[in-house]
Amino acid sequence: MAGKLAVIGAGLMGSGIAQVAAQAGWDVVLRDVTDEALTRGTDGIKASYDRFVGKGRLDADAAQQALGRITATTDLDAVADADVVVEAVFEKLEVKHEIFRALDRLVKDETVLASNTSAIPITKIAAATARPERVVGVHFFSPVPMMQLCELVRGHRTSDSALATAREFAESVGKTCIVVNRDVAGFVTTRLLSALVVEAAKLYESGVATAEDIDLACRLGFGHAMGPLATADLTGVDILLHAAGNIYTETQDEKFAAPELMRRMVDAGDIGRKSGQGFYTY
Ligand code: NAD
Repeated sequence: MAGKLAVIGAGLMGSGIAQVAAQAGWDVVLRDVTDEALTRGTDGIKASYDRFVGKGRLDADAAQQALGRITATTDLDAVADADVVVEAVFEKLEVKHEIFRALDRLVKDETVLASNTSAIPITKIAAATARPERVVGVHFFSPVPMMQLCELVRGHRTSDSALATAREFAESVGKTCIVVNRDVAGFVTTRLLSALVVEAAKLYESGVATAEDIDLACRLGFGHAMGPLATADLTGVDILLHAAGNIYTETQDEKFAAPELMRRMVDAGDIGRKSGQGFYTY
């Protein structure tokens, strides 16, 4: 499957999705609100293609052709003839609503409107449109060109055909999908990660084991590539605190109640790799 894809948002995720789609033969319109954001996004794509070419994993001509299939624009009207739209803008419901309202007016009736949200219920996003059955979650992982998984999320009204199109799209760009059949807070991946990080942080907070040993347990005992506390530092302790908090609010399930330590770390700015200090020092 390949056709016309529109990606809204040229940040980390949007540019990654545009990159893998263009490489798979999709004609891609990449839309952001500023030229600076678009330049950052397309420069990142070029640099990533160059790295793949350098490693012999992508042919230089194929990389050129893929780049030629990406049109960067600030004009939202340019997405009008897309078969699939993937939204990857800031994780704010108001921003996503504004975009889905505009898309609903602009695109063809059969177009699938997908969101790359990591945590906002698809049903809430879809409510901004008059076609909730065509709205679906396509949750890619960072960095998109490297990570194999795409979590497909069925909103309350998502149709089988929209879900099938989303799957075809994700598989066409080389991903393997899992399906989240009910639109629950945190979907499957963020639920699992939040529960693990919260429990790891509780064990660390209460002095049961060091951060290093908790992470070693998961790496050597379970074969995880990275331990939960190192993962929290990489993702951002603030982001995981927020994610776990949202799931806790929805479910009232204590296993998502983050320990005080995580809150104090965020208050102090110790949010992980991006600040130089988290569960580890960088
Ligand atoms: P980002 O901050 O890197 O990029 C967001 C982009 O959206 C920016 O370039 C911004 O200019 C643009 N934008 C804002 N409003 C816009 C509008 N109205 N029209 C077009 N573009 C607009 O964010 P990101 O990390 O790429 O995340 C995007 C989405 O993907 C979020 O919903 C996030 O939760 C989700 N997500 C992120 C990750 C991750 O690891 N970063 C992983 C999975 C999912």
